[in-house]
Amino acid sequence: MPYQLKNGVFLVRCRYPGCAFATQVTTEQKIMAMTEEDVEREAKNLAKDISMTKHDAIYGTKHTLRNPEIRRVSGTYQLIGQHESPDQKPEAVFYRDFDKGEIILKEGEAATTLCEVVRGSAFAERNAGHRYGLGACFGASALLANHSRTCNVLAGSNGTRIAFYNLIALSKKNPKKASRLFQEVMDDTLRVIQDLESSIDTTRQVIDTQSVRG
Ligand SMILES: [Zn+2]
Repeated sequence: MPYQLKNGVFLVRCRYPGCAFATQVTTEQKIMAMTEEDVEREAKNLAKDISMTKHDAIYGTKHTLRNPEIRRVSGTYQLIGQHESPDQKPEAVFYRDFDKGEIILKEGEAATTLCEVVRGSAFAERNAGHRYGLGACFGASALLANHSRTCNVLAGSNGTRIAFYNLIALSKKNPKKASRLFQEVMDDTLRVIQDLESSIDTTRQVIDTQSVRG
């Protein structure tokens, strides 16, 4: 069954050293393919073409936009022919695949979804020891209104698959799953706080030891 991308928005950045070019591209035309992965690839190619025109109009004499970083920032995959609700409710869940080191959640981005590791693993950039394995949830900032992501979360291995849940939509569709996700993310937040507290304790002990010596 073929898929299409709805309301796709991509962030395209030039990788050329020192180049400040970054642009957001909306893929307005309908992109359809047999799998979500194929749709994503097609959409990224389109986003790249649009960006290249913009980029090369400004920087084309110096360098061309050859291998930009392209990330989807919004949009949902739908089965073609699937019933669409007239009031455009957000999807309860969508999936994305990441390669090792790729950014899953970016610091400062608007937080509207909770994440669950469906395949592979993930970790917080600032606290690489805090890993999320299969079934683990993260993204607590989505629980707070108008909050943004507090740190980068990266994929721990190639082919890491993440489920992005819209908690409000999910709570209507599958309240049991929504409350389990909520609980897991709260537990994770507590673990992060405990990690922080123990590292503060360690720092204090080091300072105390030093001041005794000094
Ligand atoms: Zn450039």
